[in-house]
Amino acid sequence: MRIDLHCHSTASDGTDTPAELMRNAAAAGLDVVALTDHDTTRGYAEAVAALPEGLTLVTGAELSCRIDGISMHLLAYLFDPEEPALLAERELVRDDRVPRAKGMIAKLNGLGVPVTWEQVSRIAGDGSVGRPHVATALVELGVVPTVSDAFTEQWLSDGGRAYVPKHETDPFEAIRLVKGAGGVAVFAHPAAAKRGRTVPESAIAEMAATGLDGIEVDHMDHDADARERLRGLAKELGLLVTGSSDYHGSRKTVSLGAYTTDPEVYGEITRRATGAFPVPGTGGA
Ligand code: AMP
Ligand code: FE
Ligand code: FE
Ligand code: ZN
Repeated sequence: MRIDLHCHSTASDGTDTPAELMRNAAAAGLDVVALTDHDTTRGYAEAVAALPEGLTLVTGAELSCRIDGISMHLLAYLFDPEEPALLAERELVRDDRVPRAKGMIAKLNGLGVPVTWEQVSRIAGDGSVGRPHVATALVELGVVPTVSDAFTEQWLSDGGRAYVPKHETDPFEAIRLVKGAGGVAVFAHPAAAKRGRTVPESAIAEMAATGLDGIEVDHMDHDADARERLRGLAKELGLLVTGSSDYHGSRKTVSLGAYTTDPEVYGEITRRATGAFPVPGTGGA
């Protein structure tokens, strides 16, 4: 069984539509794929409709959180997408991405870059708008050669010249909301240092005590040392260990299934979840 529990579509900052993502996941030989767009579930219906036979979809989202000024991402799986409290928080975060993107565009204009909201919103389409869309605009304008080159102090990295923070949820609150909606909560790429400051282990221990289910260990932004340290921490705290590609289509270089989750851990995630069931593919549209 090949299980990839963290993928993005055009519902946020990936470049495959949800339907393309399902087809590409099957073509990559995956048995289970999770759709985890940033702060939104809007890709679900299209993904379910296109799900090929033999591929199982785990519905999810990646929630934007912040603790002590440090941004972090919480993967939420198999929660009830209609549960009102989590839905309201997701919408608050997602909707705040629009004025925030406009704020970054204004800062870029102040730095002499002629990027416009029309350009960024065309790139984002109906997906929840984020820095990768702004970064794509900078590539189009020839300001930087690639999307990841825009994530520097000079441009869009946390605290960078054109950075604007967005509303982000307190992770303890987010964990409670996810659990309250019957979901399973996994801290995404907790040691991704190149994205900025990382959350201290003491805070991860407090999250475990609040109900955090697991941490993502096998991820392209973690080197061998980080993975070993995180595996030890998970053992100490009784947390599940996941691995996933964090696929973003052509906006990142990583392939579907580049990192995977152990079938036993996947089984435990499905046993803990009460908000939704994994969706088995029936052939697709
Ligand atoms: P936002 O949620 O709008 O603040 O944007 C964060 C997103 O930017 C992450 O989910 C990644 O998709 C992307 N990102 C963050 N750091 C990098 C990086 N160094 N290179 C490429 N993409 C990045
Ligand atoms: Fe992303
Ligand atoms: Fe993330
Ligand atoms: Zn992600």
